[in-house]
Amino acid sequence: MIKVTLQSFENATQGQQSFGLSTTRYLEDMVNDPTFLGRLISVPYTRNIYFPNDKYQIEATNDDLVRVITGGLEWRAIPSGVPDNEIDLQVKLVPNEDGILGGADHPDPTIKTNPVYYNRWYEANDWLSLAGHWFHEWLHVAGFQHAYREAGVGPDFGDAVYVVGNLLVEVARERAEVQKSGVPSRLGQGYFDLYHSDESPHNGPFLDPNSMARAVAR
Ligand SMILES: [Zn+2]
Repeated sequence: MIKVTLQSFENATQGQQSFGLSTTRYLEDMVNDPTFLGRLISVPYTRNIYFPNDKYQIEATNDDLVRVITGGLEWRAIPSGVPDNEIDLQVKLVPNEDGILGGADHPDPTIKTNPVYYNRWYEANDWLSLAGHWFHEWLHVAGFQHAYREAGVGPDFGDAVYVVGNLLVEVARERAEVQKSGVPSRLGQGYFDLYHSDESPHNGPFLDPNSMARAVAR
């Protein structure tokens, strides 16, 4: 059993807090979903850049993804590296005039979320878009980073952080459709709108293409 805990949530009103807490419970349910965990073992991706510590990066495997996610291994927990089986979320609502969603700036474990998007999902009860956003950013907190495309222009949407975030949201959407219990039809759509396009207002950490040469294959 993997726990998900909203450790801190800065700048949130009481109503925003309660939506954040219920979203955290949904996210906990989703990361423990046998279908999600089953597909995670073999989901294909193009690159998987992982910083196990502050000294070097590696190309991580599916086993690494499973180990880090099920172990709740935030980057800052390393080098002690002892899994506590708990995904810790530290969130802050941060306005952004340029319409940027937010992100996590490695190695700061804080996940920043633009209240414009937060309130949109809160009002639509689209907990899945928020859960997907927080999970995606937590993967960055855990030490996974995005890769550029070969040409060095724009993100590679086939990299592991994108693929695993999408997988989680897709499995939850499949489940919601099976249950059909008053599910908003656009549940989770906000996540895909923000993370699936070249104009994505997500500002997650992207590696400089030149630094990719330093990646150690294994
Ligand atoms: Zn990202």
